[in-house]
Amino acid sequence: MKGQVALVTGASRGIGQAISLKLAAEGIFVIATATSEAGAEATVAAIVAQGGSAQAVKLDVTNSADVEALFKKIVSEQGRLDILVNNAGITKDGLMMRMKDSDWNSVLDTNLKGSFNCMREASKIMTKARYGRVVNVSSVVGEMGNPGQANYCASKAGLFGLTKSAARELAKRNITVNAVAPGFIETDMTAALPEKGREALLQTIPMERLGSVDDVANAVCFLVSSQAGYITGQILSVNGGMYM
Ligand code: NAP
Repeated sequence: MKGQVALVTGASRGIGQAISLKLAAEGIFVIATATSEAGAEATVAAIVAQGGSAQAVKLDVTNSADVEALFKKIVSEQGRLDILVNNAGITKDGLMMRMKDSDWNSVLDTNLKGSFNCMREASKIMTKARYGRVVNVSSVVGEMGNPGQANYCASKAGLFGLTKSAARELAKRNITVNAVAPGFIETDMTAALPEKGREALLQTIPMERLGSVDDVANAVCFLVSSQAGYITGQILSVNGGMYM
């Protein structure tokens, strides 16, 4: 994969940062995006410190005009885009009967529409090149459902349909599109879990631990590698057996 170019959204921390570091360690040039310049730059600094190369870009994936402009810039500056990892995601939890329109809309806009925005642009570049790898970061709760997360689960389940449709559209151009479905992973997103909730959660995970960001990054790294060239339209669960 040396010399390839990858774009990772939501790369400032957590899973997106781990994916960026792992891809860069494979010799891939990583365009690391986050909603703030400083967030993306922190990841780029970590990549450079480990001997890799990367570029920091401020990007809100919900802004389709900004997404389009960024992909045009990538073509003019890099001349290629081999890998897209749609990792940016947010939660706005609450019981459905009290959920505000704004909480539904912002989660769907970021997690689902944001991924679509990037896939629409990446597919134009990858179709021309007759090569590409797309990985969408979904969630185990997109498969199972979760009380208090109607918006988040709907967005993550929507990613499965988006992944499979894009996989069918793009397969003949040698572009694979897959999803990973992490279980509960130790990041800022899960740090807020109260101790009691965490204990109850661990009882539902056969491997009796939360996942690490590297567990997810390893799966993504495999799906974008040449070893996964005949795998498309799939959901790779990284959940310690929580859902099977
Ligand atoms: P995190 O630590 O909260 O990081 C989220 C990332 O998304 C940040 O880099 C954030 O950028 C970025 N982001 C948020 N809104 C954005 C927007 N509008 N445009 C661009 N970037 C945006 O999350 P995480 O736990 O690493 O999760 C990463 C992905 O894995 C998410 O899609 C999440 O749903 C999924 N996931 C997580 C878990 C888990 O247990 N942690 C489980 C299953 C799935 P800023 O730093 O600039 O805000």
